[in-house]
Amino acid sequence: MAKKEDIKLQRVYEKPIKIFGKQLKIMRVILIALICMVYTGFVFYETRSIIPLIFGSFGLGLFILAIIVMIKKIIYIKDFNLECSAAGDVYITKLRGVCPKCKGDLKIVNRFIVCSKNTSHKWDLDIHEPN
Ligand SMILES: [Zn+2]
Repeated sequence: MAKKEDIKLQRVYEKPIKIFGKQLKIMRVILIALICMVYTGFVFYETRSIIPLIFGSFGLGLFILAIIVMIKKIIYIKDFNLECSAAGDVYITKLRGVCPKCKGDLKIVNRFIVCSKNTSHKWDLDIHEPN
């Protein structure tokens, strides 16, 4: 295992998520998800229909995802990441680095930083979180 300072991950891609031209705020997502859950809960209570439950579970999924993004500040989805700034703005980012052993490209795979040239060049992502 290489020392922590050997690896630098850089954001090679950074795109703020915008909805109708407005920056997406994590608290807004949580609020919308909560309203969705409460509203569909009431509709289900009144109608006993399965449809509001389906919409409600979307709300629940969105709520859980937003909470995870807010607490962890970054989550890794294949090649891309969802990041949340201190101000609560949500971004899509892509991280890349240079392997300190062979100068190969570093990618994030299943919570590990892996070298594209040699898969034995591998580091635990948890101790190399970008700032
Ligand atoms: Zn390497």
